[in-house]
Amino acid sequence: MADIVLEVKNLSITFFTKQGELPTVDSLSFSLERGETLGIVGESGCGKSMTVNGILQMVPPPGKLTGGSVKLAGEELVGMKEKELCKKRGRDMAIIFQEPMTSLNPLMTCGRQISETILAHKRVSRAEADKRALELISMVGIPMPEKIFNSIPGRLSGGMRQRIVIAMALCNNPGVLICDEPTTALDVTVQAQILGLINELKEKFGTAVIFITHDLGVIRQMADKVLVMYVGQAVERVDAKELFANPLHPYTQGLMKCIPGMDSGDGDLHVIDGAVPMLYDLPKGCLFAPRCPYADDRCRSQRPPLYGKEGGHQVRCFRCEALGEEGAL
Ligand code: SF4
Repeated sequence: MADIVLEVKNLSITFFTKQGELPTVDSLSFSLERGETLGIVGESGCGKSMTVNGILQMVPPPGKLTGGSVKLAGEELVGMKEKELCKKRGRDMAIIFQEPMTSLNPLMTCGRQISETILAHKRVSRAEADKRALELISMVGIPMPEKIFNSIPGRLSGGMRQRIVIAMALCNNPGVLICDEPTTALDVTVQAQILGLINELKEKFGTAVIFITHDLGVIRQMADKVLVMYVGQAVERVDAKELFANPLHPYTQGLMKCIPGMDSGDGDLHVIDGAVPMLYDLPKGCLFAPRCPYADDRCRSQRPPLYGKEGGHQVRCFRCEALGEEGAL
């Protein structure tokens, strides 16, 4: 039987604002097995980061988790007391954010920040926690770990700081590691090193990874399976290999054409016309219809369900009706 470490079912998040109730995440479902990487991809404003907030049970006001279930190693997180959730965060699931400087305390040494995280969750002495922090700094490929242990984050480069954040995230061997655009603020060569490091550590510890990005090129490098999001909904869900061989949703096809090297070859990079719609002004029919080259009258008046069997290739587009409606999210 599959070793499922995270199971998200019908997760829904709504923002209650003066403009009305805005559905930020709409009935999203996925699961994650041990050692597996799920890539969640979509443009800014598609609900990727809010999905992470929903998993961590940290939806900021005026947002609220309005439905669904999040099970971590079989244990339901929705409705769990904050005190219990605090024990889970940083121990059983950890997160790496986009900008390392906002994740680190600028006044505390890097080593002490890692050992504090260990001490918050484990009954070990300060000396043991410091020793483990030093090992982790070395493990994430930082030269002269003793020196870096005693340095404040401001003395490190962006890539080094992100390595410290990765060491901190992994210090309690979490079952689930969430990477929310962890390389966006880094230059390309450092990005490649950080992606390689996350893959290496995932293999070593069997950690399940959720990798959030707007970049399908990064997804191709990292993910075993992919969830493409558009305006808070899953629009395509399938194994990564199948997605790159046979993208079915027009939005995914558009994103693919935006990857340098995967364009039509005429020298110009493709752009998807238009922009993600505002949540207070959503189209009546398919949410992608205003930008879709195949939109017809039906698309403009009806919302498509997610077609396709659960575990197979699922697509939210009337053009994929032949896949059947079983397993609709
Ligand atoms: Fe395009 Fe229609 Fe499919 Fe929506 S349902 S993605 S508008 S073809």
